[in-house]
Amino acid sequence: MQLYDVIIIGGGPCGLAAGIEAAKNGLSHLILEKGSITESIRRYPKLMRFFSTAENIEIGGIPFPISGVKATRNEALQYYRKVAAYYKLNTKVFTEVDRVEKEGELFTVFTTTGDTFSAHRVIMATGYFDKPRQLGIPGEDLPHVSHYYDEPFRYSFTKVVIVGAANSAVEAALELYRHDVDVTVVHRREDFKPTVKYWLIPDVKNRVKEGKIKTQFNSRVTRIEPHQVHLENVETGETSVLPADFVLVLSGYTPDASLLRRCGIELDPETQIPTFNKQTFETNVRGLYVCGTVLAGIYTEKVFIENGREHARAILEHIMGKEVQPVKELIDRI
Ligand SMILES: Cc1cc2nc3c(=O)[nH]c(=O)nc-3n(C[C@H](O)[C@H](O)[C@H](O)COP(=O)(O)OP(=O)(O)OC[C@H]3O[C@@H](n4cnc5c(N)ncnc54)[C@H](O)[C@@H]3O)c2cc1C
Repeated sequence: MQLYDVIIIGGGPCGLAAGIEAAKNGLSHLILEKGSITESIRRYPKLMRFFSTAENIEIGGIPFPISGVKATRNEALQYYRKVAAYYKLNTKVFTEVDRVEKEGELFTVFTTTGDTFSAHRVIMATGYFDKPRQLGIPGEDLPHVSHYYDEPFRYSFTKVVIVGAANSAVEAALELYRHDVDVTVVHRREDFKPTVKYWLIPDVKNRVKEGKIKTQFNSRVTRIEPHQVHLENVETGETSVLPADFVLVLSGYTPDASLLRRCGIELDPETQIPTFNKQTFETNVRGLYVCGTVLAGIYTEKVFIENGREHARAILEHIMGKEVQPVKELIDRI
């Protein structure tokens, strides 16, 4: 079995950045990705546009040329694939990692199909997009319920209930409303989340004022049935029923805590933030690193491509025994 210098788990922007840094340092590397290259971005809403300017999500020092300022999902998919090809990254797609074990100074990475790979160092860059927050209510697994929003045309001339009031929920609500969808946003607090992108706020609030997007604030969904959802007002306890052809539960995502634990990484019980050194990104398991959004615990909005792409540089400096230049962004945020 080939022994790699570094195995990277996850082929998102931050995992690819780690692969590039390994290649630049002359280390043999393997990126294990459970889906396609930049699988999370591939599964983002089809019509989405990044909020970051293109240059802020570049990796490997390769310019990201687009005709506008902010990239679309398609442009980002093209860009990251091209960068991976340019650096000849050694990537094995559709290979899901189940766990990592360390014996002596060597790591064995086990896939869900029973294959194993060995390395001196392992970098976990598995992001957060696979674990949507669950409501934990009856009916959440019905076929008309989804924890991901894909594209608007599927929903035209239907009634859609969106659960959640952060960026994903607001963006979906606006896009759906503009595609002839009857949208209602349900949220257990009294307003949209204060973290919603500032330029979306006037748009969504004005649509609500006009009655074009409906809201049920201070309400929680208690049960989902094939054509309706049951609500409870969290202040009065009053119950009601809303018709719903589709339900989109867009209340955020969290890193896969059980995967991290299976690799021996300790997590803060409250924040789910892994134990790691903020300068070197090495976890409590020597030689095992976290990189990108996976290290954000429940604060997934604090680490994104713009700042997560920097982690790889510090990790590789540490692996190479060089002086590690701190990633200031991270220290300020987490
Ligand atoms: C709609 C939307 C818009 C966004 N816009 C921006 C923006 O404008 N600017 C910005 O900076 N950030 C943005 N973000 C956030 C950004 O996309 C993420 O922070 C970023 O993808 C994190 O990169 P990553 O490499 O850490 O994780 P990911 O991109 O999530 O990559 C993780 C990879 O690991 C793989 N993986 C997971 N588990 C396993 C396993 N067990 N075995 C093997 N592979 C595994 C996944 O398939 C995935 O490909 C946006 C997010 C969303 C949802």
